[in-house]
Formats: sequence, structure tokens, C-alpha cells
Amino acid sequence: MQATNEPEGVRQAVMAVPKVVIRQLVLLVPLLANLALLAGWAGVGLTDTFVMAGLGVVAVATLLALVGGRAAPLWLLTATLMLDLVGIGLMRLTPDGNGFGPLAVLPAMWLAADHRLRGVGLAFLGTATFVVAPTLVYYGPEPAWWSRGLVLSILAVLCAFIVAGTGQVWVRQNSELEEQGTRLARALDDVLANRALNDAIVGTVDVGLVALDRDGTYQSINPRQAAFMALAFPAGHAGRAGQLGDVFAADRVTRLTTEEMPTSRALLGEEFDDHRIWIGAEPSKQLALSVSARSVRDGSGERDGAVLVYKDITPLMAALKVKDDFVASVSHELRTPLTSIMGFLDLVLDDEEGVDPGVRRKLEVAKRNSERLLDLVSDLLLTAQVDDGYVALDVEPTDLSTIVRESLAHNAPRAEAQGLGLRHSVQPGLVVHGDPVRLRQIVDNLLTNAVKYTPSGGSVAVELEGGDEDLWLKVSDTGIGIAPEDLGRLFMRFFRSQEAEDRAIQGIGLGLAITRSIVEAHGGTILVESEPDRGSTFIVRLPLDGPRSPGTSGGHHWAADAG
Ligand code: ADP
Repeated sequence: MQATNEPEGVRQAVMAVPKVVIRQLVLLVPLLANLALLAGWAGVGLTDTFVMAGLGVVAVATLLALVGGRAAPLWLLTATLMLDLVGIGLMRLTPDGNGFGPLAVLPAMWLAADHRLRGVGLAFLGTATFVVAPTLVYYGPEPAWWSRGLVLSILAVLCAFIVAGTGQVWVRQNSELEEQGTRLARALDDVLANRALNDAIVGTVDVGLVALDRDGTYQSINPRQAAFMALAFPAGHAGRAGQLGDVFAADRVTRLTTEEMPTSRALLGEEFDDHRIWIGAEPSKQLALSVSARSVRDGSGERDGAVLVYKDITPLMAALKVKDDFVASVSHELRTPLTSIMGFLDLVLDDEEGVDPGVRRKLEVAKRNSERLLDLVSDLLLTAQVDDGYVALDVEPTDLSTIVRESLAHNAPRAEAQGLGLRHSVQPGLVVHGDPVRLRQIVDNLLTNAVKYTPSGGSVAVELEGGDEDLWLKVSDTGIGIAPEDLGRLFMRFFRSQEAEDRAIQGIGLGLAITRSIVEAHGGTILVESEPDRGSTFIVRLPLDGPRSPGTSGGHHWAADAG
């Protein structure tokens, strides 16, 4: 504890004296001073009857004050003040004692302090009765004494009124202050309770949390994040956004650059979800994290930092890998016997005379279904490969015009059977560097979809045209169209629109996902415009010189899956 300094000590000592006693002392000082003045000047002695009587009454009041002390009840306080007025009134009767009169202001003010507005009335009554009236009785109702009495009464009432008013304001302010204090204390309690709750949540959640300030300094991290950082930054972390460490891209080997680090992106105001990274140098101990970021804004809407959430998705990634491996190996295993079944069916069907027409029809149905099964298995296999991060391409100069024409011819019977008009405008001789099998898949998928999703009476149009560097394939239909909210999910694996499901149109939702992967592996882009019940247009842009990376011609091209 700090030692009490001197003024503080004096203050405490004064505070220790009861209020009622202090009042008496304050009154006694001018009273005795005036008395001393009169004694020295006018020769008024202590033996004067009025002085003795007056002093006696004030002494009784002081005695009462001392007895009552701090616990003095209100009536006792009032009684001492009234006695003081009586004492002043008596002393005022001594020769030249008019100077005692104004001292009545002091008890008048204290009465107002104790009783507020009621105290103003008491002050008036006390002053008039005990200070003013005695002189009028004693000296007779002379104008000089009336005038003094009037001024004195007004002065006492005025001072009492000021004190009562100030007291009222003070009490109101005090109660407002008290109320504000209570409200503040309650708010502080709430804040503390909230903070404790937040701390408990942040400390318990199973995700890593980072709060960055507007300069990119780490403001806080939770224990989970501390564990992630120990793995990602074995040499330590300086607590600033963008620090490099054992943080890798989706391929698990390419280290992220400063700009690619989630914290750097978040610091620039980017908001994202499910950005996947791997942390840890040793492959067997690497963790996959899904990172989300949101900007934090201050009261005026200014960006004030960011919050990042890191979720451990290693088990999910492992499960996905198992699933893809399973799909890949099952489809691979199914392909061999299926190809063999189809081969033998072809052999049997090739025998023109040896097969009975009834049996032939059944065998043809079996062959069609085997072909469909093989298509499905191939799609599944390709999807599994795409998920592994590549599409294998055998790139060679390929005549896309011919491919489009073949696909048109292949789909024409079905379009005709459905009563669809099939229009086309194909620029001849467009040669592109690409994988002919995969390019055919693009055209087939788009064209079969256009036919599939267009009710009879509609039409399908295919356009192919080339520029200096790129070519454009446009497949449009007047079919069922795609709802705007579905457009974003159209190219996701296994996505099927409600409309397609409701109309029981066959499909498993892999065609467009595969189409996009192939287009992007060739360095191209695909986009779609559609309106429900009006139709859809898919536009594919492919660069004529094929994928822009080593090993484009011949051999395999491994393209990262952009989807
Ligand atoms: P599938 O046709 O086997 O369902 P896709 O991947 O080719 O799978 O297509 C995914 C979904 O996109 C379809 O189920 C359908 O809802 C919608 N879709 C694709 N092409 C069209 C089209 N031309 N018109 C309307 N909807 C389409």
C-alpha cells in the first residue's frame, strides 16, 4: 500500500468528524470573531446578558451535536440548527449586535441541505421567528429593524433556496451516475462472461483459428492452431501473415509462395472457403487442411483484419482416396471381362447365317447394353483419374471437323426418333492438337445431352468454327434448360438437376464433369448459357496448338484437375 500523503491525511481526519459537529464549528468561528470584535471595539463583555444567553444556547446546540455525532437523527440536526438561530437571535439583541444577524444564513443553508425545499420554509420560519422577530419586539417596530429583518429573511431564504436547488440537482446527478455505474458494471460483467465463454469455445473447438490485425500480425491463435503451426513451421513462426514453411499445395509437394499463403490472401481482403493445403514435411505425417477466411470490419465498415479457420480434413482426404482407388480398380477390373463379352458377341453376330433372327435381336440388345455398361465404366475410371489430379491425353494433330460430323451422324437417328431438328454448321478441316478419343468424348457428351434434354418438336444446333489461335464449338438446344441456381453446380460430379430427375431422363451426372476436365486438360474453357424451358447453349473454346506444356505431342500429357 502507498503511504498516505499529507493533504489526504487531513482530508481523512476532517471526514472522521461528524457533519453536525463541523457545522457547529463553522458557525462558531464567525460568531466568536464578531464577539471578539465587539468586545475590543464597543466594549461589549461576555457578561452581557444577551451574549451569555446566546452563547449558552449555541453551546447547548454544540453539545447536542457532539452527543448525536455521526448517528445524529434528522430531528436532532434540525433542533441544533434551530437552537443556533435562537442563539444568533439573542446575540443580535446586544448593543451593536446587528452584525450577528447575517450568520443566520448558515443554519438556514444547512436546514435546506437536510430538508431540501421543506428546509427553505424552515429556514424562513426559523430566521423570522428567532432572529428577526426578537429585535422587533425588543426595539419596537422601527423601520430600520423592519428593513434589516426583511433583508435578512430574504437573504436566508435565498441562500437556503440555492442550497436546496443545488442539492436537488446533485442528488439527481448522483442517482444518474449511480445508475450508469450499475449499468456499466453489468455490461462489464456481461463482457467478461462473454469473453470467458468465447475463450472456452475457441479453446475447445476442433478447428484452428487465427485472428490477424490489419497489418497482418497474428493477434491470437487457439491451441489447435498452435499444434498445426508446430507442424507447418518447425523452425518457429514470427507471428506475421505470409511466413513460409512446410506448407504445400493440393499436390502435397509444391510449396506455397508468400502470395499463395492463405494468411496473405486473407490480408488482401480475399474471402474464401475450403482452400485445401497440406502441412508437414514428412509425407507420412502430413495433414490436409481446409482453410476458410473472412474479413473483419470495424464499426465504420473499414477492413480491420481477418479471421482464418483451419480444419483438419486428412481423414476425409484419405477416405476420398480409398473411394477413388476403389472406383478406379473396380472399373478397371470390369472393363476387361466386358470387352471380352463384347468381342464374343461381335464374333457371334458376325456370323450372318449361323444365328437365328430371334436370337440375333436378343444378342443385339445384349451388345447395346454392354456398350452402355462399358461407357459407364469408362466414365467412372476417367473420373477417378481426374480426381487423382490428371487426365491422360494422347495428343496428336486431330481433325475436329470430322469428329463433329461423326458425332452428328451418330446422334442423328436418336434426334430423328425424338422428332428433333438437328442443324449444323461445321467449318471443314479444323485441325487441333489434342487427344482424338477425348475430343470425341467432349462432342458426344454435349450433343447427347442436347438431344436427351430436348423434348420432341425442339431442335439442336451444332456450330464449329476456327480462329487464328482458337476454335469454338457451340452446341445449343431448345430443351428444358437449367435453373440459374443449378448453373454453378452443373460441372460437379454426380450433379443432376431436379428437372432431369423428375422427367426420369437417364444419366448419372458424370458427363459434364468429365467434359470440363478434358477441355481444361487441353488448355481450353467451357461455359454455359441457359434459361429454363427456353434451352441451353454450351460453348467450348480450345486452343489450336493444344495443351501449352511439355510433351504435348505424342505420349501422355498430365493436366492438373482444375475442378
Ligand atoms: P447426365 O446427363 O448423365 O445426368 P451430365 O454431367 O452430362 O450428366 O449433366 C449433368 C446435368 O446437367 C444433367 O443431369 C442435367 O440436369 C443438366 N444438363 C446437362 N446438359 C443439359 C442440357 N443440354 N439441357 C438441360 N440440362 C442439361
